[in-house]
Amino acid sequence: MTDGKSASPENSSAGLLPPRPLTGAMAGEVERLLSGRTRDIRLTGELHRRFEERSWRQTAKIIRSWMIWVAFVDVLTLALNALLLPRQVALAMVAPACLLPPAAILTAIIWSKPRAATLQHVSLLAGMCLILLSVALVGVFAGGEFYERHLSIMLFVATSAITIFSVPLAWTVAIACYALCLYFVLQWHNPILDAGSVVAATLFFSCGIIAIVVARRTMNILAQKTFLLDCRDQRRVAELADANARLERLARTDPLTGIANRRWMMETLEGLWRNGRESGVVAMLMCDIDHFKALNDKLGHGEGDRCLVKVAGIIQSCVRADRDLVSRHGGEEFLIVLPDVDEDDAIAVAKRIRESVEAAALPNPSSGVGPSVTLSVGVALKSALDTDISLANLQHEADMALYRAKEAGRNQVCVFHRPNQAAPSAAEQIAARR
Ligand code: GH3
Ligand code: MG
Ligand code: MG
Repeated sequence: MTDGKSASPENSSAGLLPPRPLTGAMAGEVERLLSGRTRDIRLTGELHRRFEERSWRQTAKIIRSWMIWVAFVDVLTLALNALLLPRQVALAMVAPACLLPPAAILTAIIWSKPRAATLQHVSLLAGMCLILLSVALVGVFAGGEFYERHLSIMLFVATSAITIFSVPLAWTVAIACYALCLYFVLQWHNPILDAGSVVAATLFFSCGIIAIVVARRTMNILAQKTFLLDCRDQRRVAELADANARLERLARTDPLTGIANRRWMMETLEGLWRNGRESGVVAMLMCDIDHFKALNDKLGHGEGDRCLVKVAGIIQSCVRADRDLVSRHGGEEFLIVLPDVDEDDAIAVAKRIRESVEAAALPNPSSGVGPSVTLSVGVALKSALDTDISLANLQHEADMALYRAKEAGRNQVCVFHRPNQAAPSAAEQIAARR
C-alpha cells in the first residue's frame, strides 16, 4: 500500500500532523478529477501517494482485525469439532486447520506498521492464499459432507475479505480468482460431484464474487472521491484564512505609511482599558507635523505623502518594536502609546522622535519654523494610581499638551500636568524647551 520509506504515514493518517498544503498542480488535478465522471477517477502520482498514506491506518486496522478474527474462529471450530465430531474426522481436520493461525498472525504482524509496499502486497496475498487453502483442505481431509461444505465456507471467507479490505483492485481480483480456482480444482476432484455440477456451481459462485468485486471497486472510487473533496475543502479553508488575514491586515493598516491606522489603535486601546490590563503606567504621545499644509502647498501632495511615509518610519525607529504602539491618527498626526514607562522615559522618547525628524532634514521651505520638516509632540501620562483616567481623558490631555507645544512655537515636546500633579521634573522642563 504505502512505501515504507515515506515520512510517517501513521502520524499523518492519524491526523497528528497538519495536512500538507496542495501544490498548484495538485490542486488543478483535484479540480480536473472532480469535474469529470466519478467512475473515471484515478489517483496518480503524489495525490495517489497521499491517499494511500491517509487510508493506510484504517486499511491496516481492518486487515489486522480480520486476520485475528479468522485465526480465533479457526481455533474455536477446531475445539468444537474435537468435542462434537467423530474422533477420526476431527483428527483429519487438525493438520490443515493448523496452517491458518500462523499465516493469519504473521500477516497481522506485517500489517502492524507501515512497511515496503511490495512486502505488504506479498504478505497479504500469501496470507490469504494460505488461509483459504487451509479452510478448503479441512473439508478435503475430512471428506464426505464436509468436503463441499468447507469449500463453500472458503468462498465465504474470501468474499468477506474482498468486501472489507480496502486494497487496490488488482489485489482484490487476485484474491477472488485464487478462491474461485481453488474451489473449481478441488470440487473437480470431489468424488461425489459430476463435472457438470462442478462447472455450474463454480459459475454460480463466480457471478456472486464478480458482483462483490465490482462493489469493492465502487467503494474504492468513492473513497478516492471523498479524499479529493477533502483536499478541495482544505485548500478552500486555507484560501479563506489567507484572504481573512489579508483583509484584517488591510483593515488595521494605514495604506500610505503601512503603520497601524486610527481604528486599530483605538480598538486596541479600548480593549486594554476594558480588560483592565492598562492598570499600570502608560504614556501617550500625540505628534503633529508643523506647517504641513504649507509643505503640500509648496511642494505638492506627492512630496507631502513621501514626507508622511518618512516621518512614520522615523517614529517607528525611535520606539520599542515589541511593546510600543504607533498609529497614524489623522492626516499628519501620529499617536504613540508607550506602556510601562516613567515620565522621564516618555519625555526622552518624545524628544528623540522630535530630534530625529529634524535631523532627517526633509524639506519644508515654507514652514514658519525652519527650512525643514519639524514635529510637535504632546505627552500625557497615566500612573498606576490614576485608575480613574479614561482613555478619552488621556487622549484629550495629550491633545492639550500638543496644542501647547504648537502655541509655544512648535518643534517641541510639551507634557500635560493635571492640577494635582507635582511640579515638572528637570528632565521634563528640558524636554519642553526641546
Ligand atoms: P500645524 O503646524 O498647526 O499643524 O499646521 P498644519 O499645516 O500642519 O496643519 P493643518 O491642519 O492646517 O493642515 C494639515 C494638512 O495635512 C492639511 C491636509 O491637506 C494635509 N493632509 C492630510 N492628510 C494628508 C495626506 O494623506 N497626504 C498629504 N499630502 N497631505 C495630507
Ligand atoms: Mg494636524
Ligand atoms: Mg500639523
